[in-house]
Amino acid sequence: MLNDPRSHGLWERTAIAPPSTFPLAGQFAADVVIVGGGFTGLSAALHLAEAGRSVVVLEGAEVGFGGSGRNVGLINAGMWVMPDDLPGELGDVYGERLLQLLGNGPQVVMSIIDKHGIACELERNGTLHCAVGKSGLTEITERARQWQKRGAPVELLDANETAARIGTKVYAGALLDRRAGTLQPLAYVRGLAHAAVRAGATLHTGSPVVSCTRDGTGWKVSTPGGFVSAEWVVVATDAYSKGPWAKVRREQVHLPYFNLATRPLPPDLRSSILPGREGVWDTKEILSSFRMDSAGRLVFGSVGALRNTGQAVHVGWAKRSLARLFPQLGPVEFEHEWYGKIGMTDNALPRFHRFERNVIGFSGYNGRGIAPGTVFGRTLAGHILGELSEDDLPLPVTDTEQPSLRSLKEAYYEVGAQIAHFAGERL
Ligand SMILES: Cc1cc2nc3c(=O)[nH]c(=O)nc-3n(C[C@H](O)[C@H](O)[C@H](O)COP(=O)(O)OP(=O)(O)OC[C@H]3O[C@@H](n4cnc5c(N)ncnc54)[C@H](O)[C@@H]3O)c2cc1C
Repeated sequence: MLNDPRSHGLWERTAIAPPSTFPLAGQFAADVVIVGGGFTGLSAALHLAEAGRSVVVLEGAEVGFGGSGRNVGLINAGMWVMPDDLPGELGDVYGERLLQLLGNGPQVVMSIIDKHGIACELERNGTLHCAVGKSGLTEITERARQWQKRGAPVELLDANETAARIGTKVYAGALLDRRAGTLQPLAYVRGLAHAAVRAGATLHTGSPVVSCTRDGTGWKVSTPGGFVSAEWVVVATDAYSKGPWAKVRREQVHLPYFNLATRPLPPDLRSSILPGREGVWDTKEILSSFRMDSAGRLVFGSVGALRNTGQAVHVGWAKRSLARLFPQLGPVEFEHEWYGKIGMTDNALPRFHRFERNVIGFSGYNGRGIAPGTVFGRTLAGHILGELSEDDLPLPVTDTEQPSLRSLKEAYYEVGAQIAHFAGERL
Protein backbone atom coordinates (compact mmCIF):
# COMPACT_ATOMS: atom_id res chain seq x y z
CA MET A 1 0.00 0.00 0.00
CA LEU A 2 1.30 3.44 -0.91
CA ASN A 3 4.20 1.51 -2.50
CA ASP A 4 5.44 0.13 0.80
CA PRO A 5 5.62 -3.69 0.72
CA ARG A 6 6.27 -3.75 4.49
CA SER A 7 3.04 -1.96 5.39
CA HIS A 8 0.41 -4.54 4.39
CA GLY A 9 2.51 -7.41 3.00
CA LEU A 10 0.60 -10.58 2.15
CA TRP A 11 -2.79 -9.01 2.74
CA GLU A 12 -2.21 -6.46 -0.03
CA ARG A 13 -1.32 -9.31 -2.41
CA THR A 14 -4.39 -11.45 -1.74
CA ALA A 15 -7.20 -9.03 -0.77
CA ILE A 16 -10.17 -8.23 -2.97
CA ALA A 17 -9.89 -4.81 -4.66
CA PRO A 18 -11.25 -1.81 -2.75
CA PRO A 19 -14.14 0.23 -4.14
CA SER A 20 -13.02 2.80 -6.64
CA THR A 21 -12.68 6.14 -4.83
CA PHE A 22 -11.21 9.60 -5.25
CA PRO A 23 -10.26 12.47 -2.94
CA LEU A 24 -12.88 14.90 -1.68
CA ALA A 25 -13.14 17.88 -4.02
CA GLY A 26 -15.65 20.63 -3.27
CA GLN A 27 -18.26 21.43 -0.63
CA PHE A 28 -20.86 18.92 0.55
CA ALA A 29 -23.35 18.29 3.32
CA ALA A 30 -24.26 15.04 5.07
CA ASP A 31 -25.88 13.82 8.28
CA VAL A 32 -22.63 12.27 9.49
CA VAL A 33 -18.95 12.62 8.59
CA ILE A 34 -16.79 9.66 9.52
CA VAL A 35 -13.04 10.19 9.76
CA GLY A 36 -11.01 7.02 9.17
CA GLY A 37 -11.57 4.08 6.83
CA GLY A 38 -10.86 1.11 9.12
CA PHE A 39 -13.17 -1.38 10.83
CA THR A 40 -14.63 1.21 13.20
CA GLY A 41 -15.33 3.94 10.65
CA LEU A 42 -16.64 1.63 7.94
CA SER A 43 -18.83 -0.38 10.30
CA ALA A 44 -20.35 2.89 11.53
CA ALA A 45 -20.79 4.03 7.91
CA LEU A 46 -22.43 0.76 6.90
CA HIS A 47 -24.92 0.75 9.77
CA LEU A 48 -25.79 4.44 9.38
CA ALA A 49 -26.23 4.16 5.62
CA GLU A 50 -28.41 1.06 6.07
CA ALA A 51 -30.60 3.14 8.39
CA GLY A 52 -31.00 5.77 5.67
CA ARG A 53 -28.59 8.44 6.96
CA SER A 54 -26.37 10.32 4.52
CA VAL A 55 -22.76 9.51 5.38
CA VAL A 56 -19.41 10.69 4.04
CA VAL A 57 -16.28 8.76 5.04
CA LEU A 58 -13.00 10.69 4.80
CA GLU A 59 -9.91 8.47 4.83
CA GLY A 60 -6.51 10.17 4.82
CA ALA A 61 -4.73 7.40 2.92
CA GLU A 62 -6.48 4.24 1.67
CA VAL A 63 -9.15 1.90 3.02
CA GLY A 64 -7.46 -0.33 5.63
CA PHE A 65 -4.29 1.79 5.75
CA GLY A 66 -4.19 1.65 9.58
CA GLY A 67 -4.30 -1.39 11.84
CA SER A 68 -7.30 -2.79 9.98
CA GLY A 69 -5.24 -3.76 6.94
CA ARG A 70 -2.09 -4.91 8.74
CA ASN A 71 -3.17 -7.18 11.58
CA VAL A 72 -2.92 -10.92 12.21
CA GLY A 73 -6.57 -11.57 11.49
CA LEU A 74 -7.53 -13.20 14.81
CA ILE A 75 -11.22 -12.47 15.45
CA ASN A 76 -11.01 -12.52 19.22
CA ALA A 77 -13.85 -12.57 21.72
CA GLY A 78 -13.21 -10.18 24.60
CA MET A 79 -10.14 -8.23 25.68
CA TRP A 80 -6.76 -9.07 27.17
CA VAL A 81 -8.03 -8.10 30.59
CA MET A 82 -9.31 -11.12 32.54
CA PRO A 83 -13.15 -11.25 32.42
CA ASP A 84 -13.49 -10.97 36.22
CA ASP A 85 -11.26 -7.87 36.27
CA LEU A 86 -13.45 -5.87 33.88
CA PRO A 87 -16.18 -5.01 36.41
CA GLY A 88 -13.39 -3.93 38.79
CA GLU A 89 -11.96 -1.59 36.13
CA LEU A 90 -15.22 -0.20 34.78
CA GLY A 91 -17.84 -0.88 37.46
CA ASP A 92 -20.38 -3.72 37.31
CA VAL A 93 -22.70 -2.18 34.72
CA TYR A 94 -20.09 -1.23 32.12
CA GLY A 95 -17.90 -4.23 32.91
CA GLU A 96 -20.54 -6.90 32.32
CA ARG A 97 -22.00 -4.97 29.36
CA LEU A 98 -18.61 -4.80 27.64
CA LEU A 99 -17.96 -8.49 28.30
CA GLN A 100 -21.31 -9.46 26.83
CA LEU A 101 -20.87 -7.20 23.79
CA LEU A 102 -17.31 -8.25 22.98
CA GLY A 103 -17.95 -11.91 23.81
CA ASN A 104 -20.50 -11.85 20.98
CA GLY A 105 -18.23 -9.68 18.79
CA PRO A 106 -16.94 -12.45 16.49
CA GLN A 107 -20.55 -13.48 15.83
CA VAL A 108 -21.34 -9.92 14.72
CA VAL A 109 -18.33 -9.92 12.37
CA MET A 110 -19.26 -13.29 10.90
CA SER A 111 -22.88 -12.34 10.34
CA ILE A 112 -21.84 -9.11 8.54
CA ILE A 113 -19.50 -11.17 6.34
CA ASP A 114 -22.33 -13.60 5.56
CA LYS A 115 -24.93 -10.91 4.96
CA HIS A 116 -22.74 -8.95 2.55
CA GLY A 117 -20.96 -11.91 0.98
CA ILE A 118 -17.50 -10.55 1.87
CA ALA A 119 -14.72 -12.74 0.41
CA CYS A 120 -12.19 -12.53 3.24
CA GLU A 121 -11.01 -16.09 3.95
CA LEU A 122 -13.22 -16.38 7.04
CA GLU A 123 -12.47 -19.43 9.21
CA ARG A 124 -14.93 -20.19 12.01
CA ASN A 125 -12.85 -22.83 13.78
CA GLY A 126 -11.94 -20.89 16.90
CA THR A 127 -8.66 -19.70 18.35
CA LEU A 128 -6.09 -21.39 20.60
CA HIS A 129 -4.48 -19.32 23.35
CA CYS A 130 -1.47 -21.51 24.09
CA ALA A 131 0.19 -21.92 27.48
CA VAL A 132 3.96 -21.54 27.69
CA GLY A 133 5.11 -23.37 30.84
CA LYS A 134 3.39 -23.64 34.20
CA SER A 135 2.59 -19.97 34.59
CA GLY A 136 0.98 -19.90 31.15
CA LEU A 137 -1.15 -22.90 32.08
CA THR A 138 -2.28 -21.22 35.29
CA GLU A 139 -3.26 -18.12 33.31
CA ILE A 140 -5.36 -19.89 30.69
CA THR A 141 -6.95 -22.19 33.29
CA GLU A 142 -8.16 -19.15 35.20
CA ARG A 143 -9.27 -17.41 32.00
CA ALA A 144 -11.24 -20.51 30.99
CA ARG A 145 -12.90 -20.70 34.42
CA GLN A 146 -13.94 -17.04 34.28
CA TRP A 147 -15.44 -17.34 30.78
CA GLN A 148 -17.11 -20.68 31.49
CA LYS A 149 -18.96 -19.30 34.52
CA ARG A 150 -20.46 -16.76 32.09
CA GLY A 151 -21.56 -19.58 29.79
CA ALA A 152 -18.98 -18.94 27.06
CA PRO A 153 -18.10 -21.95 24.84
CA VAL A 154 -14.42 -22.11 25.80
CA GLU A 155 -12.55 -25.31 26.55
CA LEU A 156 -9.24 -26.10 28.20
CA LEU A 157 -7.10 -28.52 26.18
CA ASP A 158 -4.26 -30.52 27.73
CA ALA A 159 -0.79 -30.72 26.22
CA ASN A 160 -1.61 -33.76 24.06
CA GLU A 161 -4.85 -32.31 22.70
CA THR A 162 -3.02 -29.06 21.96
CA ALA A 163 -0.22 -30.89 20.17
CA ALA A 164 -2.77 -32.77 18.04
CA ARG A 165 -4.43 -29.52 16.95
CA ILE A 166 -1.26 -27.52 16.29
CA GLY A 167 1.35 -30.08 15.27
CA THR A 168 3.92 -29.16 17.93
CA LYS A 169 4.55 -30.39 21.46
CA VAL A 170 5.96 -27.18 22.91
CA TYR A 171 2.81 -25.99 24.68
CA ALA A 172 1.55 -27.06 28.11
CA GLY A 173 -2.08 -26.67 27.03
CA ALA A 174 -4.42 -24.27 25.27
CA LEU A 175 -7.67 -22.40 25.68
CA LEU A 176 -9.91 -23.20 22.72
CA ASP A 177 -12.40 -20.41 22.14
CA ARG A 178 -15.06 -21.64 19.74
CA ARG A 179 -16.62 -18.17 19.38
CA ALA A 180 -13.52 -16.86 17.60
CA GLY A 181 -11.92 -17.41 14.18
CA THR A 182 -9.62 -15.86 11.59
CA LEU A 183 -9.99 -13.75 8.46
CA GLN A 184 -7.96 -11.84 5.90
CA PRO A 185 -8.15 -8.39 7.51
CA LEU A 186 -7.55 -6.14 4.50
CA ALA A 187 -10.12 -8.12 2.52
CA TYR A 188 -12.61 -7.78 5.36
CA VAL A 189 -12.18 -4.01 5.69
CA ARG A 190 -12.39 -3.56 1.92
CA GLY A 191 -15.53 -5.71 1.98
CA LEU A 192 -17.00 -3.43 4.64
CA ALA A 193 -16.19 -0.46 2.39
CA HIS A 194 -18.01 -2.08 -0.56
CA ALA A 195 -21.02 -2.85 1.64
CA ALA A 196 -21.13 0.72 3.01
CA VAL A 197 -20.92 2.21 -0.50
CA ARG A 198 -23.65 -0.16 -1.74
CA ALA A 199 -25.81 0.97 1.19
CA GLY A 200 -25.38 4.59 0.05
CA ALA A 201 -22.33 5.91 1.94
CA THR A 202 -19.88 8.15 0.09
CA LEU A 203 -16.21 7.25 0.58
CA HIS A 204 -13.27 9.51 -0.19
CA THR A 205 -9.70 8.23 0.15
CA GLY A 206 -6.59 10.41 -0.05
CA SER A 207 -8.61 12.90 2.03
CA PRO A 208 -6.87 13.71 5.32
CA VAL A 209 -9.01 15.80 7.63
CA VAL A 210 -7.06 18.89 8.61
CA SER A 211 -9.65 20.77 10.65
CA CYS A 212 -13.05 20.43 12.26
CA THR A 213 -14.75 23.70 13.13
CA ARG A 214 -18.20 24.74 14.31
CA ASP A 215 -20.70 25.45 11.57
CA GLY A 216 -24.02 26.66 12.95
CA THR A 217 -25.33 23.78 15.07
CA GLY A 218 -23.05 21.30 13.32
CA TRP A 219 -19.48 20.86 12.11
CA LYS A 220 -17.42 21.73 9.07
CA VAL A 221 -14.88 18.97 8.44
CA SER A 222 -12.17 20.07 6.01
CA THR A 223 -9.56 18.32 3.87
CA PRO A 224 -7.09 19.96 1.46
CA GLY A 225 -9.66 19.43 -1.33
CA GLY A 226 -12.86 20.72 0.27
CA PHE A 227 -15.19 20.27 3.23
CA VAL A 228 -18.29 18.44 4.41
CA SER A 229 -20.83 19.99 6.77
CA ALA A 230 -22.61 17.61 9.13
CA GLU A 231 -24.48 17.39 12.43
CA TRP A 232 -22.34 14.52 13.66
CA VAL A 233 -18.65 13.58 13.35
CA VAL A 234 -17.33 10.09 14.10
CA VAL A 235 -13.61 10.00 14.89
CA ALA A 236 -12.34 6.54 13.91
CA THR A 237 -8.63 7.24 13.52
CA ASP A 238 -7.21 5.19 16.44
CA ALA A 239 -3.46 4.47 16.44
CA TYR A 240 -2.97 6.10 13.02
CA SER A 241 -4.63 9.35 14.14
CA LYS A 242 -3.41 12.54 12.50
CA GLY A 243 -4.73 16.08 12.20
CA PRO A 244 -7.31 17.45 14.66
CA TRP A 245 -7.44 14.25 16.74
CA ALA A 246 -3.71 13.68 17.18
CA LYS A 247 -4.52 13.52 20.90
CA VAL A 248 -6.03 10.07 20.31
CA ARG A 249 -2.59 8.93 19.19
CA ARG A 250 -0.93 10.69 22.14
CA GLU A 251 -3.20 8.82 24.55
CA GLN A 252 -1.72 5.51 23.43
CA VAL A 253 1.60 3.78 23.74
CA HIS A 254 2.36 2.19 20.38
CA LEU A 255 3.49 -1.41 20.36
CA PRO A 256 5.07 -2.49 17.06
CA TYR A 257 4.00 -5.92 15.78
CA PHE A 258 5.26 -7.76 12.69
CA ASN A 259 4.07 -10.65 10.56
CA LEU A 260 5.99 -12.91 8.19
CA ALA A 261 4.38 -15.29 5.70
CA THR A 262 5.92 -18.43 4.21
CA ARG A 263 5.26 -19.68 0.71
CA PRO A 264 2.15 -21.90 0.44
CA LEU A 265 3.07 -25.14 2.23
CA PRO A 266 2.82 -28.47 0.41
CA PRO A 267 -0.24 -30.64 1.31
CA ASP A 268 1.64 -33.04 3.66
CA LEU A 269 2.87 -30.13 5.80
CA ARG A 270 -0.53 -28.46 5.76
CA SER A 271 -2.09 -31.58 7.20
CA SER A 272 0.46 -31.71 10.03
CA ILE A 273 0.39 -28.02 11.05
CA LEU A 274 -2.88 -26.51 12.25
CA PRO A 275 -5.07 -28.92 10.26
CA GLY A 276 -8.15 -27.34 11.89
CA ARG A 277 -7.00 -23.83 10.82
CA GLU A 278 -7.47 -22.21 14.23
CA GLY A 279 -5.71 -18.92 14.98
CA VAL A 280 -2.97 -19.21 17.61
CA TRP A 281 -1.13 -16.98 20.07
CA ASP A 282 0.75 -17.71 23.25
CA THR A 283 0.98 -16.50 26.85
CA LYS A 284 4.51 -15.08 26.67
CA GLU A 285 4.96 -11.42 27.52
CA ILE A 286 6.58 -10.88 24.12
CA LEU A 287 4.01 -13.04 22.49
CA SER A 288 4.01 -14.91 19.18
CA SER A 289 1.04 -15.62 16.95
CA PHE A 290 0.49 -17.85 13.94
CA ARG A 291 -2.22 -19.01 11.58
CA MET A 292 -2.67 -20.28 8.03
CA ASP A 293 -4.00 -18.22 5.15
CA SER A 294 -6.35 -19.87 2.66
CA ALA A 295 -3.47 -20.81 0.32
CA GLY A 296 -1.67 -22.63 3.15
CA ARG A 297 0.93 -19.97 3.96
CA LEU A 298 1.97 -19.95 7.59
CA VAL A 299 1.68 -16.39 8.93
CA PHE A 300 3.96 -15.98 11.95
CA GLY A 301 4.23 -12.82 14.04
CA SER A 302 5.51 -11.20 17.20
CA VAL A 303 6.33 -7.89 18.83
CA GLY A 304 8.81 -5.75 16.90
CA ALA A 305 9.28 -3.33 14.02
CA LEU A 306 10.85 -4.51 10.75
CA ARG A 307 13.10 -1.50 10.36
CA ASN A 308 16.79 -0.76 10.90
CA THR A 309 18.45 -3.63 12.78
CA GLY A 310 15.02 -4.96 13.77
CA GLN A 311 14.38 -6.46 10.34
CA ALA A 312 17.27 -8.96 10.41
CA VAL A 313 16.92 -9.69 14.14
CA HIS A 314 13.20 -10.51 14.00
CA VAL A 315 13.38 -12.50 10.78
CA GLY A 316 16.30 -14.54 12.18
CA TRP A 317 14.42 -15.18 15.41
CA ALA A 318 11.29 -16.23 13.51
CA LYS A 319 13.27 -18.78 11.48
CA ARG A 320 14.80 -20.28 14.65
CA SER A 321 11.43 -20.33 16.39
CA LEU A 322 9.70 -22.05 13.51
CA ALA A 323 12.50 -24.62 13.33
CA ARG A 324 11.82 -25.48 16.96
CA LEU A 325 8.04 -25.37 16.69
CA PHE A 326 7.73 -27.23 13.39
CA PRO A 327 10.99 -29.05 12.50
CA GLN A 328 9.08 -30.75 9.67
CA LEU A 329 9.13 -27.39 7.81
CA GLY A 330 12.86 -27.57 7.12
CA PRO A 331 14.63 -24.31 6.17
CA VAL A 332 12.06 -21.52 5.93
CA GLU A 333 12.02 -18.51 3.62
CA PHE A 334 9.43 -15.80 3.96
CA GLU A 335 7.51 -14.52 0.96
CA HIS A 336 6.09 -11.46 2.73
CA GLU A 337 6.97 -9.34 5.76
CA TRP A 338 5.09 -6.38 7.19
CA TYR A 339 4.39 -4.57 10.45
CA GLY A 340 2.17 -2.00 12.12
CA LYS A 341 1.54 -0.25 15.39
CA ILE A 342 -0.90 -1.38 18.04
CA GLY A 343 -2.44 1.34 20.22
CA MET A 344 -2.16 0.35 23.89
CA THR A 345 -3.90 2.17 26.73
CA ASP A 346 -2.73 2.24 30.33
CA ASN A 347 -5.43 -0.16 31.60
CA ALA A 348 -5.49 -2.25 28.38
CA LEU A 349 -9.11 -1.23 27.73
CA PRO A 350 -10.59 0.82 24.90
CA ARG A 351 -11.89 4.34 25.33
CA PHE A 352 -15.04 6.21 24.36
CA HIS A 353 -14.52 9.95 23.83
CA ARG A 354 -16.96 12.78 23.27
CA PHE A 355 -14.50 15.38 21.96
CA GLU A 356 -17.19 18.02 21.52
CA ARG A 357 -20.95 17.99 21.20
CA ASN A 358 -21.78 15.34 18.53
CA VAL A 359 -18.10 14.55 17.89
CA ILE A 360 -17.53 11.03 19.21
CA GLY A 361 -15.34 7.97 18.79
CA PHE A 362 -13.93 4.74 20.19
CA SER A 363 -10.20 3.95 20.17
CA GLY A 364 -7.45 2.03 21.96
CA TYR A 365 -8.29 -1.60 21.25
CA ASN A 366 -4.95 -2.92 22.52
CA GLY A 367 -4.46 -5.32 19.60
CA ARG A 368 -8.07 -6.55 19.69
CA GLY A 369 -9.79 -4.47 17.04
CA ILE A 370 -11.49 -6.70 14.48
CA ALA A 371 -14.54 -7.60 16.53
CA PRO A 372 -14.47 -4.55 18.86
CA GLY A 373 -14.00 -2.10 15.95
CA THR A 374 -16.92 -3.67 14.09
CA VAL A 375 -19.14 -3.74 17.17
CA PHE A 376 -18.20 -0.23 18.33
CA GLY A 377 -18.82 1.12 14.82
CA ARG A 378 -22.31 -0.34 14.99
CA THR A 379 -22.71 1.09 18.51
CA LEU A 380 -21.75 4.59 17.32
CA ALA A 381 -24.36 4.29 14.58
CA GLY A 382 -26.96 3.21 17.15
CA HIS A 383 -26.13 6.22 19.32
CA ILE A 384 -26.35 8.68 16.42
CA LEU A 385 -29.64 7.10 15.33
CA GLY A 386 -31.04 7.71 18.82
CA GLU A 387 -31.38 3.98 19.57
CA LEU A 388 -28.76 4.04 22.35
CA SER A 389 -28.40 6.82 24.88
CA GLU A 390 -24.97 7.75 26.22
CA ASP A 391 -25.82 5.75 29.35
CA ASP A 392 -26.42 2.64 27.23
CA LEU A 393 -22.95 2.67 25.65
CA PRO A 394 -20.46 -0.08 26.52
CA LEU A 395 -17.91 2.36 27.95
CA PRO A 396 -18.17 5.56 29.98
CA VAL A 397 -17.15 8.88 28.43
CA THR A 398 -13.53 9.65 29.30
CA ASP A 399 -11.13 12.50 28.54
CA THR A 400 -8.01 11.80 26.50
CA GLU A 401 -5.14 11.41 28.92
CA GLN A 402 -1.52 11.27 27.90
CA PRO A 403 0.31 8.38 29.59
CA SER A 404 3.52 9.24 31.39
CA LEU A 405 6.82 8.45 29.62
CA ARG A 406 5.03 7.47 26.41
CA SER A 407 8.04 7.91 24.08
CA LEU A 408 10.29 6.04 26.47
CA LYS A 409 7.86 3.13 26.69
CA GLU A 410 7.59 2.97 22.89
CA ALA A 411 11.38 2.88 22.54
CA TYR A 412 11.49 0.20 25.23
CA TYR A 413 8.98 -1.97 23.33
CA GLU A 414 10.89 -1.68 20.08
CA VAL A 415 14.38 -2.13 21.50
CA GLY A 416 13.26 -4.64 24.14
CA ALA A 417 11.69 -6.89 21.49
CA GLN A 418 14.93 -6.76 19.49
CA ILE A 419 17.04 -7.69 22.50
CA ALA A 420 14.69 -10.54 23.43
CA HIS A 421 14.62 -11.85 19.87
CA PHE A 422 18.36 -11.40 19.35
CA ALA A 423 19.16 -13.44 22.43
CA GLY A 424 16.22 -15.83 22.21
CA GLU A 425 16.50 -19.06 20.28
CA ARG A 426 13.04 -20.35 20.89
CA LEU A 427 9.51 -19.53 21.92
C1 LIG B 1 0.29 -5.65 13.45
C2 LIG B 1 -1.06 -5.64 14.11
C3 LIG B 1 -1.64 -6.85 14.49
C4 LIG B 1 -2.91 -6.86 15.05
N1 LIG B 1 -3.54 -8.07 15.25
C5 LIG B 1 -4.87 -8.08 15.58
C6 LIG B 1 -5.61 -9.30 15.57
O1 LIG B 1 -5.10 -10.37 15.23
N2 LIG B 1 -6.89 -9.25 15.95
C7 LIG B 1 -7.54 -8.09 16.28
O2 LIG B 1 -8.72 -8.12 16.60
N3 LIG B 1 -6.86 -6.90 16.23
C8 LIG B 1 -5.57 -6.87 15.88
N4 LIG B 1 -4.91 -5.68 15.79
C9 LIG B 1 -5.62 -4.42 16.15
C10 LIG B 1 -6.55 -3.94 15.06
O3 LIG B 1 -5.96 -4.06 13.80
C11 LIG B 1 -6.94 -2.48 15.34
O4 LIG B 1 -7.40 -2.38 16.65
C12 LIG B 1 -8.05 -2.01 14.40
O5 LIG B 1 -7.64 -2.18 13.07
C13 LIG B 1 -8.44 -0.58 14.65
O6 LIG B 1 -9.40 -0.25 13.68
P1 LIG B 1 -9.86 1.24 13.48
O7 LIG B 1 -10.81 1.27 12.36
O8 LIG B 1 -10.35 1.78 14.78
O9 LIG B 1 -8.53 2.05 13.13
P2 LIG B 1 -7.54 1.88 11.88
O10 LIG B 1 -7.74 0.64 11.15
O11 LIG B 1 -6.16 2.14 12.39
O12 LIG B 1 -8.00 3.04 10.92
C14 LIG B 1 -7.78 4.39 11.21
C15 LIG B 1 -7.75 5.13 9.88
O13 LIG B 1 -7.85 6.51 10.13
C16 LIG B 1 -7.12 7.18 9.11
N5 LIG B 1 -6.83 8.54 9.59
C17 LIG B 1 -6.05 8.93 10.64
N6 LIG B 1 -6.08 10.27 10.77
C18 LIG B 1 -6.89 10.75 9.78
C19 LIG B 1 -7.30 12.05 9.40
N7 LIG B 1 -6.89 13.16 10.04
N8 LIG B 1 -8.14 12.17 8.34
C20 LIG B 1 -8.57 11.08 7.66
N9 LIG B 1 -8.21 9.81 7.98
C21 LIG B 1 -7.37 9.65 9.04
C22 LIG B 1 -5.87 6.31 8.93
O14 LIG B 1 -5.29 6.53 7.67
C23 LIG B 1 -6.46 4.92 9.09
O15 LIG B 1 -6.77 4.30 7.86
C24 LIG B 1 -3.60 -5.64 15.29
C25 LIG B 1 -3.00 -4.42 14.94
C26 LIG B 1 -1.75 -4.42 14.34
C27 LIG B 1 -1.14 -3.11 13.93
